[in-house]
Amino acid sequence: MLNLVLFGPPGAGKGTQSQKLIEKYQLVHLSTGDILRNEIANGTELGLEAKKLMDQGVLVPDEVVIGMISNKLDANKDAKGFIFDGFPRTVAQAEALDVLLKSKDTAISGMVALEVNDQELEKRLLLRGKDSGRPDDANPEIIRKRIEEYNTKTAPVANFYKSQGKYVSINGIGDIEGIFSELTKVIDSF
Ligand code: AMP
Repeated sequence: MLNLVLFGPPGAGKGTQSQKLIEKYQLVHLSTGDILRNEIANGTELGLEAKKLMDQGVLVPDEVVIGMISNKLDANKDAKGFIFDGFPRTVAQAEALDVLLKSKDTAISGMVALEVNDQELEKRLLLRGKDSGRPDDANPEIIRKRIEEYNTKTAPVANFYKSQGKYVSINGIGDIEGIFSELTKVIDSF
């Protein structure tokens, strides 16, 4: 199985590159942000609770997203592999993911990080907010909060994979095709 973690701050291009990667490698795309937005759209209790936090730009509790991922792994037993996008976002989530995958006799193949500076991220997210309809993309204060959450809680996840020898980073600024080509070079080396 090829199990990839696509890593990087909000606005780094994880969603865009995931779409291209799932096509090339025939993987199942698991974006916790998309799953949560789907819960909100369906008006579920989980969605209503998560929305309060998402609208403030803060992370939802680990046990909520870990439970969602566990369900998705069970629902895709025949998958060739997974691309995790926006997950794991804390070290506790990374540890839980290792346990979940181990129970299915598989593991993370590698993490690829897209590096983009804070100034470029704010610019991209504000631009995306104009037509994404996402409330958390529309407000500069919320965008800064999300980047702060990333820097304090999510950035340490890189060290978790570094210590397992599974971390590679690439420059996330440039044209989409050029970044995709760099990504595929890294993935083919896993
Ligand atoms: P995203 O679409 O990945 O930018 O996620 C949007 C929002 O959903 C985040 O700001 C968090 O509030 C929440 N979220 C998504 N994924 C996670 C996760 N793995 N852990 C905690 N919160 C998450």
